Amino acid sequence: MQNQWSAVHTGPLSGWGRYPVVNAKSVRPENWSSVDNYVNNANGDALIARGKGRSYGDAAINDNGYTILLERCNRFVSFNDKTGDLCLESGVTLDEIINIFAPRGWFPAVVPGTKLVTAGGAIAADIHGKNHHRDGSFCNFVKGFTVIVASGEKISCSREQNSDLFWATVGGMGLTGIIADVQMTLKPIESVYIDKTEIKAKNLDHVMSLFDEHENNYQYSVAWIDCLARGKDLGRSILMLGNPVSKTDERIRHLNNPLSQAEKKQVKVPLDSPAWLLNPFTMGTFNSLFYAKQMSEHHQSLADFESYFFPLDAIGSWNRLYGKRGFIQHQTVFPPDTSAEALRTLLTMCSERGWGSFLAVLKRFGPQDGWLSFPKPGYTLTLDIAVKDGLFEFLNELESVVLNYSGRIYLAKDATLSPAAFRQMYPRFEEWQKVKAKYDPKNTFSSHLSQRLQIT
Ligand SMILES: Cc1cc2nc3c(=O)[nH]c(=O)nc-3n(C[C@H](O)[C@H](O)[C@H](O)COP(=O)(O)OP(=O)(O)OC[C@H]3O[C@@H](n4cnc5c(N)ncnc54)[C@H](O)[C@@H]3O)c2cc1C
Repeated sequence: MQNQWSAVHTGPLSGWGRYPVVNAKSVRPENWSSVDNYVNNANGDALIARGKGRSYGDAAINDNGYTILLERCNRFVSFNDKTGDLCLESGVTLDEIINIFAPRGWFPAVVPGTKLVTAGGAIAADIHGKNHHRDGSFCNFVKGFTVIVASGEKISCSREQNSDLFWATVGGMGLTGIIADVQMTLKPIESVYIDKTEIKAKNLDHVMSLFDEHENNYQYSVAWIDCLARGKDLGRSILMLGNPVSKTDERIRHLNNPLSQAEKKQVKVPLDSPAWLLNPFTMGTFNSLFYAKQMSEHHQSLADFESYFFPLDAIGSWNRLYGKRGFIQHQTVFPPDTSAEALRTLLTMCSERGWGSFLAVLKRFGPQDGWLSFPKPGYTLTLDIAVKDGLFEFLNELESVVLNYSGRIYLAKDATLSPAAFRQMYPRFEEWQKVKAKYDPKNTFSSHLSQRLQIT
């Protein structure tokens, strides 16, 4: 047998935030029998799966073993056009699913802010979209999957079969094994358009009351917050609400095919932004312009899926805007009773101390079942912060604030959380750990993130 480790590539590797960067050994198997070979011949080396590397921090990197790149394990297996049931390999991306199935009237029920993620990565992080308050996370639409566990065995699991492995793998950040085949359900769509309503909110209380008021009337909701506004303007934002457009809607009735969308040109960020560009003044100006661009208090328009769901995909390598040292995406969720106070505290800390983000995002979550899934009922705030001197001390302070308000930090974005805080934020970790020990007793599946969080 050919030595399977001969195809190893060694070089720098990071998540989308470009922090941290490790010197990684990676392999890119072409099919599942070579994935099996890697697992069966790990011989004590750590392994971690990687999809498209769109997690921001250190979940899909490993400087202490091998990273298994699964992009080429991306075949479609079957589709039922009566039920929307789709079976595919875990390296298939949402982009590939949308390209094939949107023209036939089907779409993933949950999509994140980029379509460049794999089904495996979506399950491992149990990703959420702008409809979490209504529909829950990605795994709510996953019926089952197979996992290649450390022994090399392929185990099928679902809510009914091997349910312990199912629940530990959902949101389990690749630490229970490699997800191979996935059975998921697409939802029917009549068009690739969204009826979008944008409402300007004066401040945090205002945007929260708008979320309350509109929650039941809209399938999708998200607010872009000016995180550098202060005083009475703290938390001023634009709330973007959306509902799918039906094929009989008069705005699209004239279209030959409401399920097809013109391909968008992508612009690329060719260079890393220089450090001087990322200062409170430029970010404050950007935020103010963004808030001012909407003139009216209330604006309704027709948006295509691409620009509504994936606006950042139009700018290739936008992560370079934060400069060579990279950035941290800090996403937290707070329960309903502490949300207002917690968000006010976090936004005040950012605006007063100049730790700005070009744009911050606020969303609403409903309940979620996965043991390590990030969502729980309440509000979730996302901030992008460039890595520069003093950031890690600031993030330490934020960690205490998040704990104080019973919040939680999203592992798919994280690069700095401490082991103790992680255990407090994820109370079902011990239950999860027992299943990890059952299927991976030697801790074969391990990443930079799991080593940092002392997960074994
Ligand atoms: C612009 C942008 C917007 C985003 N918006 C959102 C959002 O709205 N909501 C949200 O929830 N997330 C969002 N994300 C984060 C992203 O959805 C998740 O990090 C997702 O996990 C990335 O998928 P991936 O295929 O790139 O996985 P990777 O980043 O490669 O890996 C992520 C995790 O999944 C594991 N994994 C990957 N493939 C497998 C497999 N086959 N078997 C087992 N484990 C596997 C890895 O080990 C790792 O722990 C966004 C990211 C970007 C860059």
